[in-house]
Amino acid sequence: RKGSVIITGASSGLGLATAKALAETGKWHVIMACRDFLKAERAAKSAGITKENYTVMHLDLASLDSVEQFVDNFRQSGRPLDVLVCNAAVYLPTAREPTYTADGFELSVGTNHLGHFLLSRLLLEDLNKSDYPSKRLIIVGSITGNTNTLAGNVPPKANLGDLRGLAGGLNGLNASAMIDGGSFDGAKAYKDSKVCNMLTMQEFHRRYHEETGITFASLYPGCIATTGLFREHIPLFRLLFPPFQQFITKGFVSEEESGKRLAQVVSDPSLTKSGVYWSWNKDSASFENQLSQEASNADKARKVWELSEKLVGLA
Ligand code: NDP
Repeated sequence: RKGSVIITGASSGLGLATAKALAETGKWHVIMACRDFLKAERAAKSAGITKENYTVMHLDLASLDSVEQFVDNFRQSGRPLDVLVCNAAVYLPTAREPTYTADGFELSVGTNHLGHFLLSRLLLEDLNKSDYPSKRLIIVGSITGNTNTLAGNVPPKANLGDLRGLAGGLNGLNASAMIDGGSFDGAKAYKDSKVCNMLTMQEFHRRYHEETGITFASLYPGCIATTGLFREHIPLFRLLFPPFQQFITKGFVSEEESGKRLAQVVSDPSLTKSGVYWSWNKDSASFENQLSQEASNADKARKVWELSEKLVGLA
């Protein structure tokens, strides 16, 4: 049978390119889990994904109710779940004030980390039931959260501190909207959320890999300077960033190429190792990359896991 893969945020950028790359093989049915149903339908059509290879299902990661509703709807569809890809994200680098999810969490960490945390915890059960030979749970990471790299050292740097803001619920009222308890910075909130994504992948691996055989992985797909992720940035940045990445840092990767990379992590028989953060070199060969000290800190991973459980109502 065909593999069945859920990709969050498949209505644009990396998620859409990955959906296309997988659908084109004829071996996958892609469930596009998106907050804007019409946009996702249009995106699938204009990418040329054929009807029998995809289904759009509504998911708003900025609402825990929506996440639960999505899981119910998916179960009712009767489809198996073989691979889950947590890809969606928001990036708000120019925001001066925090904005919040339906449950009152700062929007970047609330969407990118907490929404995905609840989704993947609930769907672990469904992955477990699948009889697919290589089941995988993939959380898209980023180099921006790795302070051991050049790109990860551009200020403001990711830093989760002692997690006091997360412990307080990131609500900007009795607790800071930032994980470390500091004052709001939209670019940092995004980077912090990506560190949480990478810590969560490793904690999943430690808790569940041996017992379930599921492959847990993360990746840095390269700098895809053309995606909607930068839509909130100032116009001059949006103009100069793609050529800067292409000609100066040479980290630039097209949406199509990045989609092929993530599709490899979904389906390539040689990428089954669990607990790994994949990257690609200039010749587009994959390799196991090192994470920064904070993004590989097992004690922090456990604490982020436990605090997140409380916030999303699992503990
Ligand atoms: P895009 O902005 O193009 O895609 C993000 C997707 O997330 C969109 O489909 C968007 O939906 C969706 N999304 C946002 N908020 C929600 C929500 N509340 N519920 C459901 N879906 C939501 O950016 P990219 O393709 O660049 O980003 C994809 C992933 O790649 C992210 O995890 C990002 O961190 C990562 N990444 C990107 C890099 C880059 O250079 N671009 C580099 C490294 C990592 P909608 O279409 O409705 O807006």
